[in-house]
Amino acid sequence: MEAIEMVDLKKQYQKIKPAVDKALQECIDAASFIRGPQVTTFENQLASYLGVKNVISCANGTDALQLAMMALDVKAGDEVIVPAFTYVAAVEVIALLGLSPVIVDVDPRTFMLNRALVEEALSPRTRLVVPVHLFGQCADMQGILDLCRAYSISVLEDTAQAIGAWYTFSQGEKAAAGTMGNLGTTSFFPSKNLGCFGDGGAVYTHDDRLAARVKMMANHGQARKYFHETVGINSRLDTLQAAILLEKLKKLDEYQRARQEVAARYDQAFGPIEELEIPYRSPASTHVFNQYTLKVPLGQREGLREFLSRKKIPSMIYYPQPLHRQPAYRSIGRVVGDLAVTEDLCQRVISLPMHTELSNVQIEYICESILDYFRKLK
Ligand SMILES: *Cc1c(COP(=O)(O)O)cnc(C)c1O
Repeated sequence: MEAIEMVDLKKQYQKIKPAVDKALQECIDAASFIRGPQVTTFENQLASYLGVKNVISCANGTDALQLAMMALDVKAGDEVIVPAFTYVAAVEVIALLGLSPVIVDVDPRTFMLNRALVEEALSPRTRLVVPVHLFGQCADMQGILDLCRAYSISVLEDTAQAIGAWYTFSQGEKAAAGTMGNLGTTSFFPSKNLGCFGDGGAVYTHDDRLAARVKMMANHGQARKYFHETVGINSRLDTLQAAILLEKLKKLDEYQRARQEVAARYDQAFGPIEELEIPYRSPASTHVFNQYTLKVPLGQREGLREFLSRKKIPSMIYYPQPLHRQPAYRSIGRVVGDLAVTEDLCQRVISLPMHTELSNVQIEYICESILDYFRKLK
């Protein structure tokens, strides 16, 4: 059996090598490294894949969050609601822009924000909510959007882990992750579901006015060359990365199915184990499994991790420390409640190998090893 990787990018590349190499060579021959035609073509193709009016590419997923917040009508001191159990990017940008983060606990089943949690955190200064679609599934968008519309609060969806997940509203209407709020963002970091060979990101919006502002912010605050209307940044997706992403977008549905098949096999193996809690599947959202994350009983995670490492099965902890305990964020913003769910999750979650190239032999080895571990504990 080949070595098991947490994410196997080498093997994925081998399968698309001729097409990718050809696309890269064309960019190099044309020497169109910045804003080559592939960039716009990719933006248009991703927009039509997601069913959103505007996709604006940029340098990475963190920049995408920053550009989205700069484009919105928010100012220093305005409160922005973020989940405590997540990657740092959103709260970092909130802090950099002088906005005031409001750190909120998450739903114990989905590990994400829901309507009730957001409602409890509202204040007269709340201007924006940032639901992060964690691990590949959409948060409670129906509830969050209903609430935010009632109070005229903007919604910015971070879909770095959930590109191509679909959400179904109570009336049956479907929408892609990132296309429901005022703006959505994503990342093309190599290990994301649609990853390039370096850094990349994008902002989505149906709103043409916001799209124009995002574009201007990403281009030094200029709508017209050398005329700077506002303070912007420089954030671009390279032509080479766009060329790679065009090839990989063709495969995205196939990649998502491969991940879902691995998840289904893991569910089947681990569902019956008393000590393990398998990922909750929201009836309103598809799950594209950027991560497959189990919950183990308190105090049992380290034992399992050591066992897995002896078996040469990689595992990761997403995330070991909640935002409000990070030295950088301990003393800024407002923390709502005791964040008991987040505290518990940080001590109990473990993510297993999840990628498009896991072989059946590898999957069975992972399942059997873990089943064996819990059998022996008895
Ligand atoms: C990866 C990730 C980001 C940031 O993406 P970069 O491209 O690395 O800047 C933001 N939010 C979440 C939830 C992520 O997982």
